[in-house]
Amino acid sequence: MTTQKTPVTVIGLGPMGATMAETFLKAGHPVTVWNRTASKAAPLVAQGATLAATPADALAANDLVIISQIDYQAMYDSIGSATGSLEGRVLVNLSSDTPEKLRAAGAWAAGHGADLITGGIMVPPPGIGQPGAYTFYSGSEAVLEKHRETLKVLTDVTYVGADQGLAMLFYTAQLFIFWSSLASYMHAVALVGSAGVAPETFRPYGAATIGDLAGDGPMGFVKILTAEIEKREYPGELNSLLMQAVSSDHVVEASRAAGLDTAYPTALRDLFWRAVDMGHGADGLGSLFEALKTPAKA
Ligand code: NDP
Repeated sequence: MTTQKTPVTVIGLGPMGATMAETFLKAGHPVTVWNRTASKAAPLVAQGATLAATPADALAANDLVIISQIDYQAMYDSIGSATGSLEGRVLVNLSSDTPEKLRAAGAWAAGHGADLITGGIMVPPPGIGQPGAYTFYSGSEAVLEKHRETLKVLTDVTYVGADQGLAMLFYTAQLFIFWSSLASYMHAVALVGSAGVAPETFRPYGAATIGDLAGDGPMGFVKILTAEIEKREYPGELNSLLMQAVSSDHVVEASRAAGLDTAYPTALRDLFWRAVDMGHGADGLGSLFEALKTPAKA
Protein backbone atom coordinates (compact mmCIF):
# COMPACT_ATOMS: atom_id res chain seq x y z
CA MET A 1 0.00 0.00 0.00
CA THR A 2 1.39 3.43 -0.89
CA THR A 3 0.67 6.32 1.40
CA GLN A 4 -0.38 9.56 -0.22
CA LYS A 5 2.17 12.34 0.32
CA THR A 6 0.78 15.59 1.74
CA PRO A 7 -0.58 17.75 -1.06
CA VAL A 8 0.78 21.30 -1.16
CA THR A 9 -0.07 24.57 -2.80
CA VAL A 10 2.83 26.77 -3.93
CA ILE A 11 2.07 30.45 -4.52
CA GLY A 12 4.81 32.39 -6.31
CA LEU A 13 6.86 30.85 -9.11
CA GLY A 14 10.01 32.94 -9.25
CA PRO A 15 13.29 30.96 -9.35
CA MET A 16 12.78 29.93 -5.72
CA GLY A 17 9.06 29.03 -5.74
CA ALA A 18 9.35 27.17 -9.04
CA THR A 19 12.27 25.12 -7.69
CA MET A 20 10.27 24.32 -4.57
CA ALA A 21 7.24 23.22 -6.56
CA GLU A 22 9.44 21.03 -8.75
CA THR A 23 11.16 19.53 -5.70
CA PHE A 24 7.81 18.64 -4.14
CA LEU A 25 6.68 17.05 -7.43
CA LYS A 26 9.85 14.98 -7.66
CA ALA A 27 9.29 13.80 -4.07
CA GLY A 28 5.80 12.61 -5.03
CA HIS A 29 3.69 15.36 -3.45
CA PRO A 30 0.59 16.48 -5.34
CA VAL A 31 1.22 20.17 -6.10
CA THR A 32 -1.16 22.99 -6.95
CA VAL A 33 0.46 26.24 -8.11
CA TRP A 34 -0.58 29.83 -8.63
CA ASN A 35 1.48 32.74 -9.90
CA ARG A 36 0.60 36.31 -10.89
CA THR A 37 2.15 35.58 -14.28
CA ALA A 38 0.40 32.30 -15.05
CA SER A 39 2.69 31.35 -17.95
CA LYS A 40 5.51 30.56 -15.50
CA ALA A 41 3.48 27.55 -14.34
CA ALA A 42 3.72 25.76 -17.72
CA PRO A 43 6.91 23.73 -17.03
CA LEU A 44 5.47 22.62 -13.69
CA VAL A 45 2.12 21.66 -15.18
CA ALA A 46 4.08 19.59 -17.70
CA GLN A 47 5.56 17.74 -14.71
CA GLY A 48 2.18 17.08 -13.13
CA ALA A 49 1.32 20.21 -11.15
CA THR A 50 -2.22 21.63 -11.20
CA LEU A 51 -2.53 25.31 -12.10
CA ALA A 52 -5.17 27.02 -9.95
CA ALA A 53 -7.25 29.50 -11.90
CA THR A 54 -7.46 31.99 -9.03
CA PRO A 55 -5.75 32.62 -5.67
CA ALA A 56 -8.96 31.46 -3.96
CA ASP A 57 -8.78 28.15 -5.84
CA ALA A 58 -5.13 27.78 -4.84
CA LEU A 59 -6.03 28.25 -1.16
CA ALA A 60 -9.06 25.98 -1.39
CA ALA A 61 -7.01 23.17 -2.96
CA ASN A 62 -4.82 22.32 0.06
CA ASP A 63 -4.42 22.92 3.77
CA LEU A 64 -0.68 23.57 3.41
CA VAL A 65 0.19 26.64 1.37
CA ILE A 66 3.83 27.55 0.64
CA ILE A 67 4.37 31.17 -0.44
CA SER A 68 7.56 32.35 -2.16
CA GLN A 69 7.34 35.87 -3.53
CA ILE A 70 9.43 39.00 -3.66
CA ASP A 71 8.06 40.33 -0.35
CA TYR A 72 5.04 40.19 1.97
CA GLN A 73 3.13 42.86 0.06
CA ALA A 74 3.01 40.40 -2.85
CA MET A 75 1.13 37.98 -0.58
CA TYR A 76 -1.54 40.60 0.19
CA ASP A 77 -1.67 41.53 -3.51
CA SER A 78 -2.19 37.84 -4.37
CA ILE A 79 -4.51 36.42 -1.72
CA GLY A 80 -5.77 39.58 -0.05
CA SER A 81 -8.99 39.37 -2.06
CA ALA A 82 -9.44 35.67 -1.20
CA THR A 83 -9.43 35.86 2.60
CA GLY A 84 -12.69 33.89 2.70
CA SER A 85 -10.62 30.83 1.70
CA LEU A 86 -8.02 31.23 4.46
CA GLU A 87 -9.92 29.55 7.31
CA GLY A 88 -7.99 26.49 8.54
CA ARG A 89 -5.04 26.98 6.21
CA VAL A 90 -1.39 26.82 7.22
CA LEU A 91 0.50 29.49 5.31
CA VAL A 92 4.25 28.94 5.21
CA ASN A 93 5.64 32.17 3.84
CA LEU A 94 9.28 31.80 2.76
CA SER A 95 9.55 35.27 1.24
CA SER A 96 11.98 37.84 2.61
CA ASP A 97 10.86 41.00 4.38
CA THR A 98 11.35 42.78 7.70
CA PRO A 99 10.58 41.10 11.04
CA GLU A 100 7.85 43.69 11.69
CA LYS A 101 6.10 42.85 8.40
CA LEU A 102 6.21 39.15 9.34
CA ARG A 103 4.64 39.83 12.74
CA ALA A 104 1.90 41.93 11.14
CA ALA A 105 1.24 39.15 8.62
CA GLY A 106 0.91 36.66 11.49
CA ALA A 107 -1.84 38.80 13.03
CA TRP A 108 -3.49 39.23 9.62
CA ALA A 109 -3.54 35.47 8.96
CA ALA A 110 -4.85 34.72 12.46
CA GLY A 111 -7.61 37.27 11.90
CA HIS A 112 -8.78 35.16 8.97
CA GLY A 113 -8.50 31.81 10.80
CA ALA A 114 -5.16 30.76 9.29
CA ASP A 115 -1.80 29.94 10.89
CA LEU A 116 1.29 31.68 9.56
CA ILE A 117 4.67 29.99 9.75
CA THR A 118 7.44 32.31 8.61
CA GLY A 119 10.72 31.17 7.08
CA GLY A 120 14.07 32.47 5.91
CA ILE A 121 15.72 30.15 3.38
CA MET A 122 19.47 29.91 3.72
CA VAL A 123 20.30 28.57 0.26
CA PRO A 124 19.82 29.72 -3.36
CA PRO A 125 17.42 27.71 -5.59
CA PRO A 126 19.99 25.03 -6.58
CA GLY A 127 20.34 24.18 -2.87
CA ILE A 128 16.67 23.30 -2.46
CA GLY A 129 16.29 19.59 -1.79
CA GLN A 130 20.06 19.18 -1.32
CA PRO A 131 21.86 17.97 1.83
CA GLY A 132 23.03 20.72 4.17
CA ALA A 133 20.36 23.22 3.11
CA TYR A 134 18.33 24.72 5.93
CA THR A 135 15.61 27.26 6.58
CA PHE A 136 14.98 29.27 9.75
CA TYR A 137 11.34 28.88 10.77
CA SER A 138 9.28 30.75 13.37
CA GLY A 139 5.68 30.70 14.54
CA SER A 140 3.68 27.99 16.28
CA GLU A 141 5.95 25.02 16.98
CA ALA A 142 2.98 22.63 17.08
CA VAL A 143 1.83 23.72 13.63
CA LEU A 144 5.36 23.49 12.25
CA GLU A 145 5.83 20.00 13.70
CA LYS A 146 2.69 18.86 11.90
CA HIS A 147 4.31 19.78 8.58
CA ARG A 148 7.98 19.19 9.40
CA GLU A 149 8.29 16.06 7.25
CA THR A 150 6.77 17.79 4.22
CA LEU A 151 8.92 20.92 4.66
CA LYS A 152 12.03 18.75 5.01
CA VAL A 153 11.61 17.88 1.33
CA LEU A 154 12.84 21.45 0.66
CA THR A 155 15.50 21.93 3.33
CA ASP A 156 16.29 20.99 6.91
CA VAL A 157 13.92 22.67 9.37
CA THR A 158 15.57 24.96 11.92
CA TYR A 159 12.98 26.27 14.38
CA VAL A 160 13.98 29.49 16.13
CA GLY A 161 10.90 30.44 18.16
CA ALA A 162 7.24 31.40 18.39
CA ASP A 163 7.74 35.10 17.56
CA GLN A 164 6.95 35.19 13.85
CA GLY A 165 9.58 37.88 13.25
CA LEU A 166 12.42 35.63 14.42
CA ALA A 167 12.94 33.68 11.20
CA MET A 168 13.64 36.91 9.36
CA LEU A 169 15.82 38.30 12.17
CA PHE A 170 18.04 35.22 11.92
CA TYR A 171 17.93 35.38 8.11
CA THR A 172 18.80 39.09 8.06
CA ALA A 173 21.62 38.57 10.56
CA GLN A 174 23.10 35.83 8.40
CA LEU A 175 22.65 37.87 5.24
CA PHE A 176 24.54 40.76 6.84
CA ILE A 177 27.48 38.49 7.71
CA PHE A 178 27.40 37.04 4.19
CA TRP A 179 27.37 40.39 2.39
CA SER A 180 29.78 42.29 4.64
CA SER A 181 32.32 39.43 4.75
CA LEU A 182 32.32 39.08 0.98
CA ALA A 183 32.33 42.85 0.39
CA SER A 184 35.37 43.04 2.70
CA TYR A 185 37.04 40.23 0.77
CA MET A 186 36.39 41.99 -2.54
CA HIS A 187 37.73 45.28 -1.14
CA ALA A 188 40.87 43.43 -0.02
CA VAL A 189 41.31 41.88 -3.48
CA ALA A 190 40.96 45.34 -5.05
CA LEU A 191 43.44 46.80 -2.57
CA VAL A 192 46.24 44.33 -3.35
CA GLY A 193 45.17 44.38 -6.99
CA SER A 194 46.06 48.08 -7.14
CA ALA A 195 49.72 46.95 -6.99
CA GLY A 196 49.24 44.30 -9.63
CA VAL A 197 48.60 41.33 -7.33
CA ALA A 198 46.31 38.80 -9.02
CA PRO A 199 43.08 37.85 -7.15
CA GLU A 200 44.13 34.20 -7.16
CA THR A 201 47.46 35.09 -5.53
CA PHE A 202 45.69 36.76 -2.63
CA ARG A 203 42.86 34.21 -2.28
CA PRO A 204 44.63 31.70 0.07
CA TYR A 205 45.43 34.48 2.56
CA GLY A 206 41.93 35.96 2.51
CA ALA A 207 40.35 32.51 2.72
CA ALA A 208 42.57 31.60 5.69
CA THR A 209 41.51 34.74 7.57
CA ILE A 210 37.81 34.06 6.96
CA GLY A 211 38.24 30.45 8.11
CA ASP A 212 40.42 31.29 11.12
CA LEU A 213 37.88 33.80 12.47
CA ALA A 214 35.35 31.00 12.89
CA GLY A 215 37.88 28.55 14.35
CA ASP A 216 39.28 27.78 17.80
CA GLY A 217 42.81 29.12 17.31
CA PRO A 218 44.34 32.46 18.37
CA MET A 219 42.44 34.16 15.50
CA GLY A 220 39.15 32.55 16.54
CA PHE A 221 37.48 35.88 17.21
CA VAL A 222 33.90 34.77 16.65
CA LYS A 223 34.17 32.62 19.75
CA ILE A 224 36.33 35.08 21.70
CA LEU A 225 34.06 38.07 21.03
CA THR A 226 30.90 36.06 21.74
CA ALA A 227 32.22 35.27 25.23
CA GLU A 228 33.15 38.93 25.75
CA ILE A 229 29.75 40.16 24.53
CA GLU A 230 27.99 37.70 26.86
CA LYS A 231 29.85 39.37 29.78
CA ARG A 232 29.92 42.89 28.26
CA GLU A 233 33.62 42.98 29.16
CA TYR A 234 36.23 43.65 26.47
CA PRO A 235 39.82 43.28 27.66
CA GLY A 236 42.20 45.33 25.50
CA GLU A 237 45.63 45.05 27.15
CA LEU A 238 47.21 43.25 24.18
CA ASN A 239 45.48 45.08 21.34
CA SER A 240 43.59 48.18 22.32
CA LEU A 241 40.73 49.62 20.31
CA LEU A 242 42.64 52.93 20.07
CA MET A 243 45.53 51.13 18.33
CA GLN A 244 43.03 49.55 15.92
CA ALA A 245 41.18 52.83 15.30
CA VAL A 246 44.48 54.40 14.20
CA SER A 247 44.99 51.41 11.88
CA SER A 248 41.47 51.86 10.51
CA ASP A 249 42.60 55.37 9.41
CA HIS A 250 45.44 53.68 7.54
CA VAL A 251 42.97 51.38 5.75
CA VAL A 252 41.01 54.41 4.53
CA GLU A 253 44.18 56.20 3.40
CA ALA A 254 45.58 53.09 1.66
CA SER A 255 42.25 52.57 -0.10
CA ARG A 256 42.18 56.19 -1.26
CA ALA A 257 45.76 55.96 -2.49
CA ALA A 258 44.85 52.78 -4.37
CA GLY A 259 42.07 54.69 -6.14
CA LEU A 260 39.27 52.67 -4.53
CA ASP A 261 35.87 53.79 -3.30
CA THR A 262 36.36 54.66 0.37
CA ALA A 263 32.74 54.75 1.59
CA TYR A 264 32.89 51.27 3.13
CA PRO A 265 36.23 51.55 5.00
CA THR A 266 35.28 55.08 6.09
CA ALA A 267 32.04 53.81 7.66
CA LEU A 268 34.07 51.19 9.53
CA ARG A 269 36.67 53.76 10.58
CA ASP A 270 33.93 56.07 11.90
CA LEU A 271 32.51 53.23 13.97
CA PHE A 272 35.92 52.58 15.54
CA TRP A 273 36.43 56.23 16.47
CA ARG A 274 32.89 56.57 17.82
CA ALA A 275 33.61 53.65 20.19
CA VAL A 276 36.88 55.33 21.20
CA ASP A 277 34.96 58.58 21.81
CA MET A 278 32.51 56.64 23.99
CA GLY A 279 35.47 55.80 26.25
CA HIS A 280 36.49 52.38 24.91
CA GLY A 281 39.97 53.29 23.62
CA ALA A 282 41.71 51.09 26.20
CA ASP A 283 39.23 48.23 25.71
CA GLY A 284 39.48 45.60 22.98
CA LEU A 285 37.83 45.17 19.59
CA GLY A 286 34.73 43.67 21.22
CA SER A 287 33.80 47.08 22.58
CA LEU A 288 32.65 48.01 19.08
CA PHE A 289 29.54 46.08 20.10
CA GLU A 290 28.69 48.89 22.51
CA ALA A 291 28.91 51.48 19.71
CA LEU A 292 26.82 49.30 17.43
CA LYS A 293 24.10 49.17 20.08
CA THR A 294 24.19 52.95 20.50
CA PRO A 295 23.11 54.71 17.28
CA ALA A 296 25.06 57.86 16.49
CA LYS A 297 23.15 61.06 17.22
CA ALA A 298 21.79 62.59 14.02
P1 NDP B 1 11.70 37.22 -6.58
O1 NDP B 1 12.11 37.72 -5.23
O2 NDP B 1 11.98 38.08 -7.75
O3 NDP B 1 10.14 36.84 -6.52
C1 NDP B 1 9.47 36.51 -7.67
C2 NDP B 1 8.04 36.13 -7.38
O4 NDP B 1 7.33 37.18 -6.71
C3 NDP B 1 7.29 35.85 -8.68
O5 NDP B 1 6.42 34.77 -8.46
C4 NDP B 1 6.52 37.15 -8.88
O6 NDP B 1 5.39 37.03 -9.70
C5 NDP B 1 6.13 37.42 -7.45
N1 NDP B 1 5.65 38.78 -7.23
C6 NDP B 1 6.39 39.92 -7.18
N2 NDP B 1 5.59 40.97 -6.95
C7 NDP B 1 4.32 40.49 -6.85
C8 NDP B 1 3.06 41.09 -6.60
N3 NDP B 1 2.94 42.40 -6.37
N4 NDP B 1 1.97 40.29 -6.58
C9 NDP B 1 2.08 38.96 -6.80
N5 NDP B 1 3.25 38.33 -7.02
C10 NDP B 1 4.35 39.09 -7.05
O7 NDP B 1 12.42 35.82 -6.90
P2 NDP B 1 12.91 34.54 -6.07
O8 NDP B 1 12.03 33.42 -6.48
O9 NDP B 1 14.37 34.42 -6.30
O10 NDP B 1 12.73 34.85 -4.52
C11 NDP B 1 11.52 34.61 -3.82
C12 NDP B 1 11.78 34.90 -2.34
O11 NDP B 1 12.76 34.00 -1.86
C13 NDP B 1 12.31 36.32 -2.10
O12 NDP B 1 11.66 36.87 -0.98
C14 NDP B 1 13.77 36.11 -1.84
O13 NDP B 1 14.33 37.10 -0.97
C15 NDP B 1 13.78 34.73 -1.18
N6 NDP B 1 15.06 34.06 -1.32
C16 NDP B 1 15.60 33.92 -2.57
C17 NDP B 1 16.83 33.34 -2.71
C18 NDP B 1 17.44 33.21 -4.06
O14 NDP B 1 18.65 32.89 -4.12
N7 NDP B 1 16.68 33.37 -5.15
C19 NDP B 1 17.60 32.84 -1.53
C20 NDP B 1 16.90 32.99 -0.28
C21 NDP B 1 15.69 33.59 -0.19
P3 NDP B 1 5.53 37.21 -11.29
O15 NDP B 1 6.15 35.94 -11.79
O16 NDP B 1 4.15 37.44 -11.75
O17 NDP B 1 6.45 38.40 -11.52
